[in-house]
This record gives sequence, C-alpha cells and structure tokens, in this order.
Amino acid sequence: MKYDYLIVGAGFAGSVLAERLASQGNKILLVEKRNHISGNSYDYKNEAGIVVHKYGPHIFHTQNKKVWNYLSRFTDWHEYSHKVLAEVDGKKVPVPFNFNSIDILFDEVKSRNLREKLIQTYGEEVKIPILKLKETTDDELKELADFIYEKIFLGYTTKQWDLKPEELDFSVTSRIPVFLSRDDRYFQDDYQAIPAQGYTAMFEKMLDHPNIEVLLEVDYKNIIDKISYDRMIFTGAIDDFFNYKFGCLPYRSLEFDFQTLDKEQFQETAQVNYPNAHDYTRITEFKHFLPTKSNQTTIAYEYPKSYKVGKNAPYYPIPKKENQELYEKYKALADVLAGKVFFAGRLAEYKYYNMDQVVGTALMLFEKKLIGK
Ligand code: FAD
Ligand code: UDP
Repeated sequence: MKYDYLIVGAGFAGSVLAERLASQGNKILLVEKRNHISGNSYDYKNEAGIVVHKYGPHIFHTQNKKVWNYLSRFTDWHEYSHKVLAEVDGKKVPVPFNFNSIDILFDEVKSRNLREKLIQTYGEEVKIPILKLKETTDDELKELADFIYEKIFLGYTTKQWDLKPEELDFSVTSRIPVFLSRDDRYFQDDYQAIPAQGYTAMFEKMLDHPNIEVLLEVDYKNIIDKISYDRMIFTGAIDDFFNYKFGCLPYRSLEFDFQTLDKEQFQETAQVNYPNAHDYTRITEFKHFLPTKSNQTTIAYEYPKSYKVGKNAPYYPIPKKENQELYEKYKALADVLAGKVFFAGRLAEYKYYNMDQVVGTALMLFEKKLIGK
C-alpha cells in the first residue's frame, strides 16, 4: 500500500494534519512511538474515576475563533476558567500576581498606596511583564517589583529551567505578567475550556476516518524503509530527525508524582505553585477540571528535570538566543527538504507553543502548503 502522507507523532500537530489531509482524500499513515494518541495532552480516567492528564495540567485557551470552531467539530466543551495560587510567605496568593495578591501580602495602607501608584503609572487592567516592572525608577514600585520577582519568579524559574528569568527570552516570564486588576483567572482569553469527554476522546474522533491508519508504539525510524509514501510530516524533535548532527538542542524534562488520596479535596484550586519551597514547582488536582463525583482525589507533584536523550521526554524547548541559533542550523537542513518533508509542532519547530498555537499553525500549513497536493 502506498500512502500519500507518512505523519510522525499523534499529538495536536500530527492529528490535525492527518484529519485535514484525510478529509481531502489523502491516504495517511500516522505513526506514534508512545502507546497512545493525543501527545502531551493525553488524558485517561484512573482507578478513582478521575480524568487525569498524564503529562501535566492541560487547559485549553485561545483567542483564535477558527481554532476553537475547528476543534469544536470533535468535542463538546466544559467551560473552565483556570485559577492558580502561589504560596508566598506561608500565604496563598493569586497568580498572575494582581491587586488581590497585593491585598493579601501587604497591610491596608501600603496596599492601597501601591495599587493607586500602579494605576497612575501604567493604567488599569494592564498587564506588565515582571522584567519590565523591574525597570521602574519609582522607589516604592521598585521595591514591589523586586518583591514579586523574588517571591514569584526567581525560585520557580530557577527550578523549572535551571536559569534565572533574565537568562531566558523575555517572552517566558511575560506569559504570566503582573496584572493590574482583580481578575484572578490565569488566562483572559475569550475561549477557555476542557474537552467535556477529555482530550483523548477528542483525538479519537479526529482520527476516526477511513483514510487514516494509526500505528502505536512504533518509532518511524524502524519502519521508514519498509513503507511507501509521497510526503512526510514530522512532529517529533527536529534534532532527533537529523540524528543530532549539530549536537542536542536543549530541552527541559519533568517527572510527575501522582497520588490518589482518600479525601474529597486536597486544595482549593486546580493548581497551586510553590515558587520558593520544595523541589517541585506545582501541584495539580485534576478533579477541578471536569465535573467529577468521587470521594477520592488525584494530585500530581511536578518536578523539573534536565533532559537526557533516550532517558526522559523533551517537554519544553528552552527559549534562549543561543538555542534559537542552534535550531536555525537544523531549520536550514529542514528547508532543503521543503516540499517533501514538513516540520510542524512544538518539538519540530522548537517553539514554546500552547495547544491552540499548534492547531493554528497546523491549519495554516494545511491551507498554504498542503491543500493543493
Ligand atoms: P506533542 O504533543 O509532543 O506530540 C508529538 C508526538 O510525536 C509525541 O506523542 C511523540 O511521542 C511523537 N514522536 C516523537 N518522535 C517520534 C518518533 N521518532 N516516532 C514516532 N513518534 C514520535 N498547552 C496549552 O495550551 N495549555 C496548557 O495548559 C498546557 N500545559 C502544558 C503542560 C505541560 C507540562 C507541557 C509539557 C505542555 C503543556 N502545554 C499546554 C503545551 C502542549 O502540550 C503542546 O503545545 C502540544 O501538546 C504540542 O503538540 P505537538 O503535536 O506539537 O507535540
Ligand atoms: N512563572 C513563575 N512563577 C509562577 C508561574 C510562572 O516564575 O508562579 C514563570 C516560570 O518561568 C514559568 C513561566 O513563567 O516557566 C511560564 O509559566 P506557565 O504557567 O505558562 O508555564 P507552563 O504551564 O507552560 O509550564
């Protein structure tokens, strides 16, 4: 059998492209080395009847209506606004750090003074990346910026990346800016939800097409010589594709410690961050994501780890100038294969993408480069 496309990886990038191309009559072989589809968003119901995310908390959020409408063809949604608390000086405060966080940590007079000054300087409902706030020349605001930097960002970022905030691209800590607001939600996007039957069920529906054949627990390198296909879409790590010709691209990995406890609830929000204490960065309690009836609860402690090829998974590209330069060398090799092999997704493009961005770029790739076949 000859396939029109060999697609490597059954995460968002590979599965969206498989569905789109299959809908146009292309025969697809989708090869996934793990024993499941859905990539890093994979979820399953555990023995306590709770849907857990195997690779850490995944909250879908987007401003992109096209992406939202596209995925809505494969799932109903459970509306969910993510809220996160961080433990600071023994208290739990909202993150992104906002006016409510200020009120919890400072006395009434100081708190009011700081809020007024922030509004006068920057305006209301404004988001300010911490590294930008630290540039303030006002003494009181500088003291506040240094406090937030120390208590929220420095410890967490050092654990997560083994780097200080200023050693990473500005975009990393800007994901969670200080928010001059009382809005406690982690994201302000128009669309925020969890697939009502879970991510894996959404992927099952997406891939349920007579033109799509899925092979699990197969590394494409082990079958590539035995199959016949016209074009390839690769969504794994780009340095792996080129056999680490220029050396390994740096990634961060994670280890999860799942525990099921005999109690209804462990913490008041789905996610609590621990910027300063402990080796883990955050604890996720999965019950909060979907309506769940169980007298038990499942939580996961998340421990950042250095990445070692073949030993653990490359979860995060590390956004940093010299890493981008190394990626560009691989990208130049990829460009030589243009038209024959397409690189898509978080690992293949070495970009710190959220799920909606991966779907958006996959849809764009399909429309601009692939649809014409
Ligand atoms: P992946 O999901 O990684 O899929 C790539 C697939 O390729 C993998 O399944 C891999 O096994 C397979 N593969 C690789 N090499 C081979 C090979 N040689 N042969 C066969 N198969 C291969 N995004 C959000 O929007 N919201 C969140 O809340 C969120 N939380 C996250 C939390 C964590 C801890 C992590 C790590 C990521 C989070 N993300 C979140 C990001 C999200 O996981 C990614 O944007 C998305 O899953 C990337 O999809 P992808 O298809 O590019 O990659
Ligand atoms: N961050 C932090 N403290 C927090 C939350 C986030 O320092 O309490 C920083 C940290 O560097 C983190 C980055 O902001 O890696 C992005 O956070 P996000 O929650 O988006 O990370 P992800 O969910 O992708 O792991």
